Amino acid sequence: MGFSPEFFEKLLHICPEGVIGNDLDGNILFFNSSAERLLGYSREEVIGRINVSSIYPPGGAREAKEFLYSEEFGGRGRLLDFETEVVHKDGKRIPIRLSCTLLHQSDKEVGFVGFFSDISTRKAVERGFLESEKRFRTIVETAGDAIISFDGNRTIQMANRAAGEMLEYDKGELIGKDFMLLVPSRYGTSWEEVERYSTSGNASVAGKTVEIVLLRKTGTEITVQMSMAEKITGDEKIVTAIIRDISGRKAVEEELRILSITDTLTRLYNRRHFNSIAQKELDRARRTRVVFSVLLADIDEFKKYNDTYGHLEGDRVLTAMGDLMLNNFRLMDSCFRMGGEEFLVLLPESGVVGAMVAAERLRIRFSELEFNPLPGGTPVTLTVSIGLSEYHPGHSLDDIVRYADMAMYTAKNEGRNRTVSYEFLRNRMIRTSDPAR
Ligand code: GH3
Ligand code: MG
Ligand code: MG
Repeated sequence: MGFSPEFFEKLLHICPEGVIGNDLDGNILFFNSSAERLLGYSREEVIGRINVSSIYPPGGAREAKEFLYSEEFGGRGRLLDFETEVVHKDGKRIPIRLSCTLLHQSDKEVGFVGFFSDISTRKAVERGFLESEKRFRTIVETAGDAIISFDGNRTIQMANRAAGEMLEYDKGELIGKDFMLLVPSRYGTSWEEVERYSTSGNASVAGKTVEIVLLRKTGTEITVQMSMAEKITGDEKIVTAIIRDISGRKAVEEELRILSITDTLTRLYNRRHFNSIAQKELDRARRTRVVFSVLLADIDEFKKYNDTYGHLEGDRVLTAMGDLMLNNFRLMDSCFRMGGEEFLVLLPESGVVGAMVAAERLRIRFSELEFNPLPGGTPVTLTVSIGLSEYHPGHSLDDIVRYADMAMYTAKNEGRNRTVSYEFLRNRMIRTSDPAR
């Protein structure tokens, strides 16, 4: 027992794909319900009335026929999964996937049957995907920040143009490399913590920002601000790092910091910086019981020099004193201009004896400097008076500075151009108040 031809015809009518049958001249002989739905024509409108070529755009039918006869898509006489377009009754073009077969009857070619389905939704999705992919690529490529993605093994999967420029790698060179190549070895295992911290936060957006240092290809370091976003799909992890070069900002910050603690005229530290440095030194002395000393120097009769030769010439003297101080002391000593013509030096790990040697060297060198405030006139020399005090347990910062000041005024009172230590003063006071004397 077999199926009747009517049964096959019914089957073709309920087929979800459009089915069109035509003779060799293109006259439509069969047009199923799906074809009606997809093309907008009723069966009656097309059968025996229009040629199959008119449901294709111009040239489309010929192209389909050529492919049908070629070996390319499914062999001669067959066309499989061929993507082309048809024209709806209302004129709109519809992308379709078409399969077509040449029909024979007693070895004679009699016509074609074509099965087709509408692929406009898939095409739209594809186009949308390509567009958003392209849009995304453009954003990533033109971004000023470096963007680097790496997988669970920290193998770099993507790096944009800015990443190459920032880290001095050629285009594409970063792909496949270990991200850890960019991380200085001193981070060691603490890098894990950096990664955990900076990916924490909302999973779809970048996490918290960290300031770290990365390594360029050439081995130089660059200070960056980085945030990372982690995306886990199935058992695949992708981390994307957004990296901003802040080395310029860092340099400016450092310049400003130095400016804020420096006296512009003498290039010594200013008074403001003294407090923070001196407090640190005091804490250290308390902890380690290693003494330090303070040296206070005040130029003698400086008002007279200023009044005689002018403020500008006075400034020259102050600058010369600054230069002298920067050359006179050890690297660990800090020199400050406390105001006017008054200078202070903090001498770590020095008792009053060591400080006296340094102070006398400064005093003598300063007195040997020759100034020429009057062109062609005789050179002028100046002197300085210095007071010293040594830190003793129980002293506050104010105490130490006050004692150095007292010693300095004693030096002034006793004729200037000399160094007096507070320790010397105190011993003398004890001696003069000694009733046995
Ligand atoms: P003494 O020996 O007792 O220290 O006398 P002195 O004249 O040095 O001391 P005094 O404190 O009376 O005068 C300090 C002078 O320093 C007053 C001012 O004209 C001068 N001076 C303060 N700051 C500056 C400055 O920035 N530039 C110049 N050129 N002079 C300054
Ligand atoms: Mg003075
Ligand atoms: Mg003074």
